[in-house]
Amino acid sequence: MQRRSFLRNTGLTMASLAVLNQSSLASFLFDPAWKIKMLTDNIGIFTEKGGTIVFSLNKKGIVVVDSQFPDTAGHLIEELKKKNKKPFKYLINTHHHGDHTGGNIAFKGLAEHVVAHINSKANQLKVAGEQKMEGSKFHVPDITFGEEGWSAKVNKETIRAYYFGAGHTNGDAMIHFEKANIVHMGDLVFNRRHPYIDKTAGANIANWIILLDKAIATFNKDTQFVCGHAAAGYDVVVKAADLKAFGDYLGNVLKYTESQIRLGKTKEEILKITEIPGSPEWKGDGIERPLGAAYAELAMK
Ligand SMILES: [Zn+2]
Ligand SMILES: [Zn+2]
Repeated sequence: MQRRSFLRNTGLTMASLAVLNQSSLASFLFDPAWKIKMLTDNIGIFTEKGGTIVFSLNKKGIVVVDSQFPDTAGHLIEELKKKNKKPFKYLINTHHHGDHTGGNIAFKGLAEHVVAHINSKANQLKVAGEQKMEGSKFHVPDITFGEEGWSAKVNKETIRAYYFGAGHTNGDAMIHFEKANIVHMGDLVFNRRHPYIDKTAGANIANWIILLDKAIATFNKDTQFVCGHAAAGYDVVVKAADLKAFGDYLGNVLKYTESQIRLGKTKEEILKITEIPGSPEWKGDGIERPLGAAYAELAMK
C-alpha cells in the first residue's frame, strides 16, 4: 500500500504522526524495502528482491554470499559499510542465476575476490554472452573450484564451499560458516515453494535428492540452513528436517510424473496438475516448472 493512501485510510494525519516518538516516526516514514536479520552477533541475512543474501562481519573483513541485483546490492553495501569498516574479502556466488549474481557488479573494485563453482562461472559468462551484456554490467568470479570445494579463513571463521554435483543447476555450491554453523544453500532449497529447475543449465532432480541427503549427513541438527527462496509466510532459515521435506517433495514430483507417463498421459495433461500428491504444502505459482523438468528428465532415460 502507498504510504499516502495508508495515511488516508487510517485517518492518521501528519499532526497525529508527530506525537509518535522520533525513531518510530522515522522508521514508519522511511521504512526501507530491504530487511536485515542477524542470525548470530556477526552473521546475518539480507532480503529485498531475489535470492537471500548471507553476510559475515568480523575484525578481519566482510564476506558476502550472493548479490541479488545491482540496486539491492547497493543497499546492502551501504548498510554493511556502516556496521564494519573492514574490507570486503570475498563475495561468493551459490550459483549463476541473475537474482543471485546480478549485484556482483556493485562489488567490482570493492570485493577482493569473487568465488564460485567453475560451472557457475561458465554459466554466468554464457548468460552474459546470450544477453549481449556490456562488460560494465557484469562481474564474474576470479576464484573457481570444482568437486574439491574451496575454503578460506577470515579471522576466527572458516568458510567452506561444498559441491555435490548437479541439482537446481550444474553449478550449485553450499557455503558453510563453520564456527557459526550456518550454511547458505542458495536455490538448493525452496522452502515450501515450487522450485525453478534449470534444465538449460544442467539441472538434475535425481541427483538433487541425493545431494540434499549428503548435506544432511555433512551438517548437523543445530545447523541453520539459509534458503534462496521460501513461499509467502515461510522462513528462509530452516533446519535439516526441512531439507529432508524438500528432498521428499522432489521425490514425489519424480514419482508422480513417472506414474502419469506410465498411464500414457501426455506432457500437456501432466502439466495441468495443481498439487503434488504427498507434498500438498508446496505452494506458489509455477507448479508446471518442476513437473516439466521431471518430464524432461524421465523422458531422457
Ligand atoms: Zn533464486
Ligand atoms: Zn536459481
